Amino acid sequence: MAGNITFTMIKPDAVKAGNIGNVLAMVNNAGFRIKAMKYTKLSAEKAGEFYAVHKERPFYGELVEFMSSGPIVAAVLEKDNAVEDYRKLIGATNPAEAADGTIRKLYATSIGENAVHGADSDENALIEANFHFAGTEMF
Ligand code: ATP
Ligand code: MG
Repeated sequence: MAGNITFTMIKPDAVKAGNIGNVLAMVNNAGFRIKAMKYTKLSAEKAGEFYAVHKERPFYGELVEFMSSGPIVAAVLEKDNAVEDYRKLIGATNPAEAADGTIRKLYATSIGENAVHGADSDENALIEANFHFAGTEMF
């Protein structure tokens, strides 16, 4: 199963801009099945824990503040080759470098406020899915 799921968040900037529906339509149209989904808000503590791998980076404080600044949509998505295909759909971290037609090209405003998160490996997808959802919340 690991190769078939990825984890995503629609970040506070895209939620505030009213783009939940637009992002989810792109996710659906790209062939991902929604396995779990919730509309929620991360505390600064939870956001810090989620992005702990970036603790030493200069943008960590800003990232934690941004990710806890408003509601997000968290979701587990299923598809063959989910992690890689989803990273392709969202585009490069910096929207200025994101390919045309990608979610970040369309909806991100800066490298920090970049509309969506996508897991970067099968292992992390599973860790991140379990960070946000109980087994009974995934279908
Ligand atoms: P994500 O993990 O959110 O899907 P990513 O894998 O494309 O993004 P990472 O290198 O994991 O990129 O960085 C995590 C997040 O930290 C980025 O999505 C962005 O919000 C923020 N970030 C990364 N680099 C910078 C930077 N140079 N300045 C400000 N924020 C940054
Ligand atoms: Mg990442």
